[in-house]
Amino acid sequence: MDLLLKGAPVSKAIDENTAKLAAQLAADGNPPALALMGAGLGEDDRAYASSILKKAQMLGIAVTEHYFDQDVGLSDFLDALQELNGDPAVHGILIFRPLPPQLDDGIIRAALAFEKDVDGITDASLAGVFTGDHKGYAPCTAQAVMEILHSYQIPIAGKKVAVVGRSLTVGKPLAMLLTGENATVTLCHSRTADLPAACREAEILVAAAGKPALIGAEHVAEGQIVLDVGIHALPDGSLTGDVDFPAVSPIVSAITPVPGGVGGVTTSVLLSHVVQAAVNQLSSFQK
Ligand code: NAD
Repeated sequence: MDLLLKGAPVSKAIDENTAKLAAQLAADGNPPALALMGAGLGEDDRAYASSILKKAQMLGIAVTEHYFDQDVGLSDFLDALQELNGDPAVHGILIFRPLPPQLDDGIIRAALAFEKDVDGITDASLAGVFTGDHKGYAPCTAQAVMEILHSYQIPIAGKKVAVVGRSLTVGKPLAMLLTGENATVTLCHSRTADLPAACREAEILVAAAGKPALIGAEHVAEGQIVLDVGIHALPDGSLTGDVDFPAVSPIVSAITPVPGGVGGVTTSVLLSHVVQAAVNQLSSFQK
Protein backbone atom coordinates (compact mmCIF):
# COMPACT_ATOMS: atom_id res chain seq x y z
CA MET A 1 0.00 0.00 0.00
CA ASP A 2 1.38 3.39 -1.01
CA LEU A 3 -1.18 5.63 0.62
CA LEU A 4 -3.35 5.50 3.74
CA LEU A 5 -6.40 7.61 2.97
CA LYS A 6 -6.90 9.15 6.40
CA GLY A 7 -10.10 11.07 7.03
CA ALA A 8 -8.57 13.68 9.35
CA PRO A 9 -7.09 16.04 6.72
CA VAL A 10 -10.33 15.82 4.71
CA SER A 11 -12.40 16.66 7.79
CA LYS A 12 -10.08 19.49 8.73
CA ALA A 13 -10.65 21.34 5.46
CA ILE A 14 -14.43 20.88 5.66
CA ASP A 15 -14.50 21.88 9.35
CA GLU A 16 -12.52 25.07 8.79
CA ASN A 17 -15.09 26.27 6.30
CA THR A 18 -17.98 25.19 8.55
CA ALA A 19 -16.53 27.03 11.57
CA LYS A 20 -16.07 30.19 9.51
CA LEU A 21 -19.69 30.14 8.30
CA ALA A 22 -20.98 29.26 11.78
CA ALA A 23 -19.13 32.25 13.27
CA GLN A 24 -20.59 34.58 10.62
CA LEU A 25 -24.10 33.27 11.28
CA ALA A 26 -23.67 33.68 15.04
CA ALA A 27 -22.29 37.22 14.61
CA ASP A 28 -25.43 38.06 12.62
CA GLY A 29 -27.59 36.75 15.47
CA ASN A 30 -28.50 33.45 13.79
CA PRO A 31 -26.40 30.71 15.41
CA PRO A 32 -26.72 27.48 13.41
CA ALA A 33 -28.50 24.63 15.17
CA LEU A 34 -29.02 20.92 14.59
CA ALA A 35 -31.71 18.76 16.21
CA LEU A 36 -31.08 15.05 16.74
CA MET A 37 -34.13 12.78 16.93
CA GLY A 38 -34.53 9.10 17.64
CA ALA A 39 -36.46 6.37 19.44
CA GLY A 40 -34.82 3.61 21.44
CA LEU A 41 -31.31 4.65 20.42
CA GLY A 42 -28.81 1.83 19.99
CA GLU A 43 -25.11 1.79 20.88
CA ASP A 44 -24.07 2.80 17.34
CA ASP A 45 -26.49 5.75 17.34
CA ARG A 46 -25.19 6.93 20.71
CA ALA A 47 -21.59 6.75 19.49
CA TYR A 48 -22.51 8.76 16.37
CA ALA A 49 -24.48 11.28 18.48
CA SER A 50 -21.55 11.81 20.81
CA SER A 51 -19.14 12.40 17.90
CA ILE A 52 -21.62 14.91 16.43
CA LEU A 53 -21.96 16.74 19.76
CA LYS A 54 -18.19 16.94 20.21
CA LYS A 55 -17.46 18.27 16.75
CA ALA A 56 -20.47 20.62 16.70
CA GLN A 57 -19.29 22.24 19.91
CA MET A 58 -15.82 22.80 18.41
CA LEU A 59 -17.33 24.36 15.29
CA GLY A 60 -19.89 26.61 16.98
CA ILE A 61 -23.07 24.69 16.12
CA ALA A 62 -25.76 24.17 18.75
CA VAL A 63 -27.22 20.66 19.05
CA THR A 64 -30.47 19.71 20.78
CA GLU A 65 -31.44 16.08 21.44
CA HIS A 66 -34.99 14.72 21.19
CA TYR A 67 -34.97 11.06 22.09
CA PHE A 68 -37.99 8.85 22.78
CA ASP A 69 -38.46 5.40 24.23
CA GLN A 70 -38.52 2.42 21.88
CA ASP A 71 -42.34 2.16 22.19
CA VAL A 72 -43.21 5.82 21.44
CA GLY A 73 -46.37 6.22 19.37
CA LEU A 74 -46.28 7.50 15.78
CA SER A 75 -48.35 10.61 16.54
CA ASP A 76 -46.11 11.68 19.47
CA PHE A 77 -43.03 11.28 17.33
CA LEU A 78 -44.62 13.15 14.40
CA ASP A 79 -45.74 15.99 16.71
CA ALA A 80 -42.17 16.47 17.91
CA LEU A 81 -40.88 16.37 14.35
CA GLN A 82 -43.44 18.94 13.18
CA GLU A 83 -42.44 21.23 16.02
CA LEU A 84 -38.78 21.06 14.95
CA ASN A 85 -39.80 21.53 11.30
CA GLY A 86 -41.54 24.77 12.28
CA ASP A 87 -38.89 26.10 14.66
CA PRO A 88 -36.91 28.85 12.86
CA ALA A 89 -34.01 28.44 15.32
CA VAL A 90 -33.46 24.82 14.13
CA HIS A 91 -31.78 24.55 10.72
CA GLY A 92 -31.12 20.83 10.39
CA ILE A 93 -32.76 17.66 11.69
CA LEU A 94 -31.05 14.27 11.86
CA ILE A 95 -33.22 11.22 12.60
CA PHE A 96 -31.42 8.07 13.77
CA ARG A 97 -32.68 5.11 11.73
CA PRO A 98 -33.74 2.38 11.55
CA LEU A 99 -36.67 3.42 13.73
CA PRO A 100 -38.85 0.96 15.66
CA PRO A 101 -41.53 -0.64 13.44
CA GLN A 102 -44.48 1.47 14.65
CA LEU A 103 -42.65 4.57 13.33
CA ASP A 104 -43.13 3.86 9.64
CA ASP A 105 -39.98 4.93 7.85
CA GLY A 106 -41.86 6.23 4.79
CA ILE A 107 -44.21 8.35 6.91
CA ILE A 108 -41.37 9.82 8.97
CA ARG A 109 -39.23 10.59 5.93
CA ALA A 110 -42.19 12.26 4.21
CA ALA A 111 -42.88 14.39 7.31
CA LEU A 112 -39.37 15.84 7.53
CA ALA A 113 -39.06 19.37 6.07
CA PHE A 114 -36.94 19.15 2.91
CA GLU A 115 -34.94 22.28 3.74
CA LYS A 116 -33.93 20.79 7.11
CA ASP A 117 -33.09 17.35 5.71
CA VAL A 118 -29.33 17.57 6.31
CA ASP A 119 -28.83 13.79 5.98
CA GLY A 120 -30.57 13.42 2.62
CA ILE A 121 -33.32 10.98 3.63
CA THR A 122 -36.40 12.57 2.03
CA ASP A 123 -37.50 11.59 -1.47
CA ALA A 124 -36.92 15.19 -2.58
CA SER A 125 -33.29 15.12 -1.38
CA LEU A 126 -32.68 11.75 -3.02
CA ALA A 127 -34.25 13.05 -6.24
CA GLY A 128 -31.67 15.84 -6.16
CA VAL A 129 -28.90 13.24 -5.96
CA PHE A 130 -30.37 11.56 -9.06
CA THR A 131 -30.87 14.75 -11.07
CA GLY A 132 -27.72 16.43 -9.77
CA ASP A 133 -29.60 19.71 -9.25
CA HIS A 134 -27.87 20.26 -5.84
CA LYS A 135 -31.07 21.68 -4.31
CA GLY A 136 -31.01 19.43 -1.26
CA TYR A 137 -28.27 17.60 0.66
CA ALA A 138 -26.84 14.22 -0.30
CA PRO A 139 -26.76 11.45 2.33
CA CYS A 140 -23.72 12.35 4.44
CA THR A 141 -21.83 9.05 4.21
CA ALA A 142 -22.15 8.88 0.43
CA GLN A 143 -20.91 12.46 0.18
CA ALA A 144 -18.07 11.69 2.63
CA VAL A 145 -16.73 9.06 0.21
CA MET A 146 -16.79 11.65 -2.59
CA GLU A 147 -15.03 14.21 -0.36
CA ILE A 148 -12.21 11.74 0.34
CA LEU A 149 -11.77 10.99 -3.37
CA HIS A 150 -11.73 14.73 -4.18
CA SER A 151 -9.43 15.65 -1.33
CA TYR A 152 -6.82 13.04 -2.32
CA GLN A 153 -7.27 14.09 -5.96
CA ILE A 154 -8.21 10.59 -7.04
CA PRO A 155 -9.55 10.78 -10.60
CA ILE A 156 -13.16 9.59 -10.92
CA ALA A 157 -14.16 10.37 -14.52
CA GLY A 158 -13.86 7.33 -16.76
CA LYS A 159 -12.89 5.03 -13.86
CA LYS A 160 -14.48 1.67 -13.13
CA VAL A 161 -15.93 1.79 -9.61
CA ALA A 162 -17.51 -1.08 -7.68
CA VAL A 163 -19.79 -0.13 -4.78
CA VAL A 164 -20.66 -3.06 -2.51
CA GLY A 165 -24.02 -2.38 -0.81
CA ARG A 166 -27.18 -0.85 -2.27
CA SER A 167 -28.79 0.81 0.74
CA LEU A 168 -30.57 4.14 0.32
CA THR A 169 -28.24 5.54 2.96
CA VAL A 170 -24.93 4.76 1.29
CA GLY A 171 -24.65 2.49 -1.77
CA LYS A 172 -27.41 3.74 -4.08
CA PRO A 173 -26.85 7.49 -3.61
CA LEU A 174 -23.09 6.96 -3.84
CA ALA A 175 -23.52 5.16 -7.16
CA MET A 176 -25.45 8.21 -8.42
CA LEU A 177 -22.88 10.72 -7.14
CA LEU A 178 -20.09 8.73 -8.82
CA THR A 179 -22.08 8.44 -12.05
CA GLY A 180 -22.65 12.20 -11.91
CA GLU A 181 -18.86 12.57 -12.01
CA ASN A 182 -18.59 10.24 -15.01
CA ALA A 183 -17.46 7.03 -13.32
CA THR A 184 -18.69 3.69 -14.65
CA VAL A 185 -20.31 2.14 -11.60
CA THR A 186 -21.09 -1.48 -10.77
CA LEU A 187 -23.50 -1.59 -7.84
CA CYS A 188 -22.96 -4.91 -6.04
CA HIS A 189 -25.21 -6.41 -3.37
CA SER A 190 -26.04 -9.61 -1.51
CA ARG A 191 -27.32 -11.29 -4.72
CA THR A 192 -24.36 -10.34 -6.91
CA ALA A 193 -22.97 -13.44 -8.60
CA ASP A 194 -19.22 -13.74 -8.11
CA LEU A 195 -18.70 -10.68 -5.93
CA PRO A 196 -14.89 -11.15 -5.83
CA ALA A 197 -14.67 -10.93 -9.64
CA ALA A 198 -16.92 -7.85 -9.79
CA CYS A 199 -14.77 -6.16 -7.14
CA ARG A 200 -11.44 -7.12 -8.74
CA GLU A 201 -12.46 -5.53 -12.04
CA ALA A 202 -12.85 -2.10 -10.45
CA GLU A 203 -10.19 0.58 -10.18
CA ILE A 204 -11.94 2.05 -7.14
CA LEU A 205 -13.71 -0.25 -4.69
CA VAL A 206 -16.12 1.03 -2.03
CA ALA A 207 -17.24 -1.41 0.68
CA ALA A 208 -20.59 -0.51 2.29
CA ALA A 209 -22.18 -3.89 3.02
CA GLY A 210 -22.25 -3.83 6.80
CA LYS A 211 -20.40 -7.16 7.02
CA PRO A 212 -17.15 -7.25 8.97
CA ALA A 213 -14.12 -8.19 6.85
CA LEU A 214 -16.33 -9.17 3.88
CA ILE A 215 -13.75 -7.86 1.44
CA GLY A 216 -10.66 -10.06 1.51
CA ALA A 217 -7.57 -10.60 -0.63
CA GLU A 218 -9.64 -12.41 -3.30
CA HIS A 219 -11.78 -9.28 -3.87
CA VAL A 220 -8.95 -6.88 -4.69
CA ALA A 221 -6.29 -6.30 -7.30
CA GLU A 222 -2.99 -4.49 -7.39
CA GLY A 223 -3.24 -0.74 -7.89
CA GLN A 224 -6.81 -0.46 -6.58
CA ILE A 225 -8.10 2.31 -4.37
CA VAL A 226 -10.28 0.99 -1.56
CA LEU A 227 -12.70 2.95 0.61
CA ASP A 228 -14.16 1.17 3.60
CA VAL A 229 -17.49 2.57 4.83
CA GLY A 230 -18.22 -0.25 7.30
CA ILE A 231 -17.95 0.28 11.03
CA HIS A 232 -18.28 -2.66 13.42
CA ALA A 233 -17.51 -2.84 17.12
CA LEU A 234 -15.56 -5.96 18.09
CA PRO A 235 -16.09 -7.69 21.45
CA ASP A 236 -12.86 -6.12 22.78
CA GLY A 237 -14.29 -2.65 22.03
CA SER A 238 -12.09 -1.96 19.00
CA LEU A 239 -13.55 -1.03 15.60
CA THR A 240 -13.20 -2.78 12.25
CA GLY A 241 -14.60 -2.24 8.77
CA ASP A 242 -16.08 -4.23 5.89
CA VAL A 243 -12.56 -4.75 4.55
CA ASP A 244 -10.08 -7.24 5.98
CA PHE A 245 -7.40 -4.56 6.31
CA PRO A 246 -4.40 -6.81 7.07
CA ALA A 247 -5.19 -9.04 4.06
CA VAL A 248 -6.09 -6.27 1.61
CA SER A 249 -3.71 -3.40 2.42
CA PRO A 250 -0.51 -5.10 1.13
CA ILE A 251 -2.17 -5.64 -2.29
CA VAL A 252 -3.93 -2.33 -3.07
CA SER A 253 -2.33 1.07 -3.65
CA ALA A 254 -4.52 3.15 -1.31
CA ILE A 255 -7.04 2.36 1.43
CA THR A 256 -9.02 4.15 4.14
CA PRO A 257 -8.42 2.98 7.72
CA VAL A 258 -11.22 2.04 10.17
CA PRO A 259 -11.40 3.92 12.47
CA GLY A 260 -9.93 7.15 11.11
CA GLY A 261 -11.37 6.99 7.59
CA VAL A 262 -14.90 7.63 6.30
CA GLY A 263 -16.62 7.91 9.72
CA GLY A 264 -15.16 11.25 10.86
CA VAL A 265 -15.65 12.77 7.42
CA THR A 266 -19.35 11.82 7.58
CA THR A 267 -19.74 13.91 10.75
CA SER A 268 -17.95 16.83 9.12
CA VAL A 269 -20.18 16.61 6.05
CA LEU A 270 -23.29 16.57 8.26
CA LEU A 271 -22.24 19.73 10.10
CA SER A 272 -21.32 21.45 6.83
CA HIS A 273 -24.88 20.72 5.69
CA VAL A 274 -26.26 22.32 8.87
CA VAL A 275 -24.49 25.65 8.31
CA GLN A 276 -25.41 25.57 4.62
CA ALA A 277 -29.04 24.91 5.59
CA ALA A 278 -28.91 27.86 8.01
CA VAL A 279 -27.54 30.13 5.28
CA ASN A 280 -30.19 28.93 2.79
CA GLN A 281 -33.07 29.26 5.26
CA LEU A 282 -32.04 32.78 6.25
CA SER A 283 -31.71 33.95 2.67
CA SER A 284 -35.10 32.51 1.69
CA PHE A 285 -36.58 34.16 4.82
CA GLN A 286 -35.11 37.53 3.79
CA LYS A 287 -36.45 37.36 0.21
P1 NAD B 1 -27.52 -1.83 5.12
O1 NAD B 1 -27.56 -3.05 5.95
O2 NAD B 1 -28.70 -0.95 5.02
O3 NAD B 1 -27.17 -2.27 3.62
C1 NAD B 1 -26.18 -3.20 3.37
C2 NAD B 1 -26.10 -3.47 1.89
O4 NAD B 1 -25.03 -4.37 1.67
C3 NAD B 1 -27.35 -4.11 1.29
O5 NAD B 1 -27.65 -3.43 0.11
C4 NAD B 1 -26.95 -5.54 0.98
O6 NAD B 1 -27.46 -6.00 -0.26
C5 NAD B 1 -25.44 -5.44 0.86
N1 NAD B 1 -24.80 -6.67 1.35
C6 NAD B 1 -25.00 -7.27 2.53
N2 NAD B 1 -24.28 -8.42 2.60
C7 NAD B 1 -23.62 -8.51 1.43
C8 NAD B 1 -22.75 -9.48 0.89
N3 NAD B 1 -22.39 -10.55 1.58
N4 NAD B 1 -22.28 -9.28 -0.35
C9 NAD B 1 -22.63 -8.18 -1.06
N5 NAD B 1 -23.46 -7.23 -0.60
C10 NAD B 1 -23.95 -7.39 0.64
O7 NAD B 1 -26.22 -1.02 5.60
P2 NAD B 1 -25.83 0.56 5.46
O8 NAD B 1 -26.69 1.38 6.34
O9 NAD B 1 -25.71 0.90 4.02
O10 NAD B 1 -24.38 0.53 6.11
C11 NAD B 1 -23.34 -0.22 5.54
C12 NAD B 1 -22.13 -0.16 6.46
O11 NAD B 1 -21.70 1.18 6.55
C13 NAD B 1 -22.40 -0.62 7.89
O12 NAD B 1 -21.23 -1.29 8.37
C14 NAD B 1 -22.58 0.67 8.65
O13 NAD B 1 -22.20 0.57 10.00
C15 NAD B 1 -21.64 1.56 7.91
N6 NAD B 1 -21.97 2.97 7.97
C16 NAD B 1 -20.93 3.79 8.15
C17 NAD B 1 -21.15 5.14 8.16
C18 NAD B 1 -19.97 6.04 8.30
O14 NAD B 1 -20.11 7.19 8.60
N7 NAD B 1 -18.77 5.53 8.05
C19 NAD B 1 -22.43 5.66 8.04
C20 NAD B 1 -23.50 4.78 7.78
C21 NAD B 1 -23.24 3.43 7.76
